[in-house]
Amino acid sequence: MNYKYLSFCTSCGFPTELTKHILHHYFSNHTVNVFYCHHCHTENKIPTYLKKIATELT
Ligand SMILES: [Zn+2]
Repeated sequence: MNYKYLSFCTSCGFPTELTKHILHHYFSNHTVNVFYCHHCHTENKIPTYLKKIATELT
């Protein structure tokens, strides 16, 4: 199965697709705790459960 993960911006609701690349290179990195919305550039905190998923995928 090929899962897709989406994260919705807390400010504008714009969905950001979390590719394996993003999960692997950013979300599984313990020093990275935020990502930026492509639509409104608001700083969004990476939820703990997504960090956990990212760690399990890599
Ligand atoms: Zn946004």
